Amino acid sequence: MAPVAIDVGRLVAALADTIASHAEELTALDQAIGDGDHGLNMKRGFEAVRSDAAIAAKPLPDALKAIGTKLVMTVGGASGPLFGTLFLTLGKELPAEPDRAALAVTFAKAVDAVAARGKSQAGQKTMLDVLYPVAAALAAGKPASELTSIADAAADGTRPIKALRGRASFLGDRSIGHVDPGARSSALMIRAVAEALERGR
Ligand code: ADP
Ligand code: MG
Repeated sequence: MAPVAIDVGRLVAALADTIASHAEELTALDQAIGDGDHGLNMKRGFEAVRSDAAIAAKPLPDALKAIGTKLVMTVGGASGPLFGTLFLTLGKELPAEPDRAALAVTFAKAVDAVAARGKSQAGQKTMLDVLYPVAAALAAGKPASELTSIADAAADGTRPIKALRGRASFLGDRSIGHVDPGARSSALMIRAVAEALERGR
């Protein structure tokens, strides 16, 4: 299987751009079922990643670890340590020249690490409701071009769920009817990564 080619600088720019251009939407989602900080939290984190020129110069696994560390330090909230764990685990587990199969195995491990960190699982109206379907799609060998629509549909799929983890769980049944902010930001990040994978073909 051919190695996956990802240009780290372009990946970071794509992640930061998509989070920045959707920050208000993420804030609005978090205003509905949380405290309204998710858009700003994520934007601050990815701008910090973007402005650290050393990250783009690193090989992919080291860059992913550095992104994770930066997110832990700058995003805050519940999502900072969780997205930090995702990137840190990806960086720790990814071989230097991964093929698609290695990427799928590594991504699945990273999502499990997020679940362990959050003491959470699928079906609780969190980022995991996007990350697990994407992990399954990668494991099934779906092309990068399909990952975006799978992630978008999974984020929309959090709308009818009652939140059982995070701040939204305080609302009980009133969390029903709203898309989870962390699920939406996960889908946005998957879009940026899928586009980077497409270009790297
Ligand atoms: P906070 O809730 O501390 O304000 P954010 O607003 O940045 O943090 O992030 C909220 C998002 O974090 C939620 O939409 C959800 O997707 C995710 N989240 C919160 N708690 C958990 C958890 N225990 N496991 C997985 N994801 C979680
Ligand atoms: Mg919040």
